This record gives sequence, structure tokens and C-alpha cells, in this order.
Amino acid sequence: MCLLGSMAAGSEKYGNEKKKVVVIGGGAGGSLLAYHIQFSADVVLIDQKEYFDIPWTNLRSVVEPSFAARSVINHSDYLSNVQIVVSTAVSITNTEVLTAGGQMFLYDYLVVATGHMESVPETKSERLSQYQAEFEKVKSAKSVLIIGGGPTGVELAGEIAVDFPDKKVILVHRGPRLLEFIGSKASKKALDWLTSKKVEVILEQSIDLKTLSDGTYETSGGEAIHADCHFMCAGKPMGSSWLSETILKDSLDVRGRLTVDENLRVQGFKNVFAIGDITDIPEIKQGYLAQRHALLTAKNLKLLIMGRNENKMAAYRPGYPIALVSLGRKEGVAHFPFLTISGRIPGWIKSRDLFVGKTRKQLGLKPTLT
Ligand SMILES: Cc1cc2nc3c(=O)[nH]c(=O)nc-3n(C[C@H](O)[C@H](O)[C@H](O)COP(=O)(O)OP(=O)(O)OC[C@H]3O[C@@H](n4cnc5c(N)ncnc54)[C@H](O)[C@@H]3O)c2cc1C
Repeated sequence: MCLLGSMAAGSEKYGNEKKKVVVIGGGAGGSLLAYHIQFSADVVLIDQKEYFDIPWTNLRSVVEPSFAARSVINHSDYLSNVQIVVSTAVSITNTEVLTAGGQMFLYDYLVVATGHMESVPETKSERLSQYQAEFEKVKSAKSVLIIGGGPTGVELAGEIAVDFPDKKVILVHRGPRLLEFIGSKASKKALDWLTSKKVEVILEQSIDLKTLSDGTYETSGGEAIHADCHFMCAGKPMGSSWLSETILKDSLDVRGRLTVDENLRVQGFKNVFAIGDITDIPEIKQGYLAQRHALLTAKNLKLLIMGRNENKMAAYRPGYPIALVSLGRKEGVAHFPFLTISGRIPGWIKSRDLFVGKTRKQLGLKPTLT
């Protein structure tokens, strides 16, 4: 009993005070990491919003706003022992993190998990209202223009084409093929599928929103496109520009990613880790990999907090290039190292539930709300 009691005290067993861990960013990686270390240290999660919005479900929530009731999860629903700070981290020193709200948080260990920048509301209720407004926008439009043919643009076009088959959907993409982050076979399959659903795909053109006048947009090639509304789905910038004014500035590569070692520690730092899309790990940027980073880092942090030798830390091996892009509710395209498939099988794996139940379970929540 005595032994169990002292184990439950976590890191206090190994020092006078609990170690302080600050996690910046509550997305796919940061949320899971905070969940796993919450009883091993004094944990602070700094996120720009009070919730984790499972990123790969966003487009379904546009055509079915009630879907977001399960996929937009308040941090306080799964973190019972973490100080949640809803603010933007603006600076890092060797000992503390400063937020836009003027608060300062001391850390023994820091984890940067700021992924990609997104301008979304701070509260869950505002985010749910935003999905409802986007749904109304689609519902009342006869034609929808989607700008950007990466995963966001392709998945949104698929959702609208399947749920609103009478709408005219036009997708304009700057590059020579859709889904440029994966192989050209996947691009072709996505293009063929969208075309079969009567989505008009225009490649190698861009749209400058300044040209918008009376529902008519002009492409860079001078073509006029009429649409009742548009969605901007161009790539989001890395959530790292603010780091160039901090102690981590020399650890950023030319693409604004943090260079990490095999233990996911930021180069040049023993107590600063980075996980998820913000890292320079040579792999496709995917949420399930950000979650793998989170689990490995949680394990390594616990080891360091217990005062174990850092040589015992687990090393990260980059993941295989696997990606699944949903095409409406039942189909999808899957990119594996030596195989690309499309149709019902990838649809069955991803498109039905978009991994919401699985992601909720990973955070200790019931897969459904009932
Ligand atoms: C349409 C689409 C479909 C996808 N489908 C899949 C899929 O099927 N499977 C899959 O594995 N992956 C998928 N992904 C990729 C996946 O979403 C990302 O790889 C993953 O979200 C990266 O996780 P992250 O924790 O690094 O960053 P994010 O999830 O982007 O989280 C970053 C967090 O940091 C916060 N933040 C940023 N800057 C600051 C700051 N200065 N201070 C405080 N907070 C800050 C943000 O608000 C956000 O909460 C998809 C992505 C898209 C766009």
C-alpha cells in the first residue's frame, strides 16, 4: 500500500517539487501529449482556443454541422489535471513562456506543438455556430467555388458533391495536380472521382479574391467563374513565425520547421521538445504521426521527470508515407508506399466516421456522446 501511495505521487517522489511541463498547441499532437503526462508533472497547455477540433473532420462538419458535436472537444473534457490557458504563446525564454494575454509560465520541460496556423474562434460554441453558418452558406448557394486542391479542397469538394449533388462545384488549384503532397496516382484517382461527380476542376490557375465582383471571380488565366460563394482551402502557414524572435530561432529550418533529434528534442536544447507538423522529420505531415510523436515524447518526459538517464530515452523512427483522403461519405483514396487505391475500402476505413470515435477514445472519452 505504501509503495502504491508513493508511486501515485508521481514526480514528487523524485524531488521536492513536481516538474513543470508547458505544452504549446492543443491540436492532434499537443492534446494527446498533455493527456498522457497530466499526472506525472504540473502541466500547462497553452492553446489559442478552448477546444481540440479534430482537424480531419472539419469538412464533414461543414455539410453536417451536428457532426461537430463529437469532434469539437473542450480541452477541459479530457484534461482533468492540466492548467488550460486559452491564449497565443508569443515568446519563449530559457525558463518561461509568455502569452499574448501577458501571462508567464515557468517550465522545466517545454513541448512545441503549434502545427499550422488557423484563424478559428476561441470558444466551442462560436466554432459550432461557424459550422452552422458555413452549412447555411452551402445550402443556400447554387454554385460553390473551392480555391485550393490539397486535402482540404479535395475533401470539401467531395463532401459537397455527395451531400448536395445538385450544386455546381468548381475547384481551382494553382498546381499541376491535385493532392500534391502524395503520389500522382492518388491525384489522378481523386481527379477522376471528382469529375465523375460533376465537379469542375481547373488546374494551374489561381484566384485573386480582389477580382471578385458580383459573384464573378477571375482566374489568373483570365477566365471568369461565377459562384454564389467560395471557400478558401489554400495551404495554411506553419505555426512557427513567432519562434523567429525566441531562443528557438536558430533551430528553425528554411521552411519554418523546428529541427529535432531522434528523441524529438529541438536541436541545441536538452529540455525543449517539438512534435507534429512543426517538426522537420522527413515524413508526410499527418495527425496519426503527430500522435505517435506525442506518445513517444510523453514516455521520454516521464523518464526524464523520474530522473532516469537520458540515454534511456526512446528514439523516433519516421513513419511510412501513408495518407487517406476521403471522397464524400463512402469513398476515398489511400496512398501507401507501394500502392494507391481508391473507392469503398479507403472510404470504409476513413470516410464513414473520420476516426472520431478512435480519436475520442485515445483521449479517454466515449466514442459517442450518449
Ligand atoms: C483536410 C485534412 C484532412 C486530414 N486528414 C488526415 C487524416 O485522415 N489522418 C491524419 O493522420 N492526418 C490528417 N490530416 C493532417 C493532420 O490534421 C495534421 O497532420 C495534424 O493536425 C498535425 O497535428 P499538430 O498537433 O502538429 O498540429 P495541429 O493539429 O495543427 O494543432 C496545432 C495547434 O496549435 C495551436 N497554436 C498554433 N500556434 C499557437 C501559438 N502560438 N500559441 C498557442 N497555440 C497555438 C493551434 O490553434 C492548434 O490548436 C489532415 C489534414 C487536413 C487539413
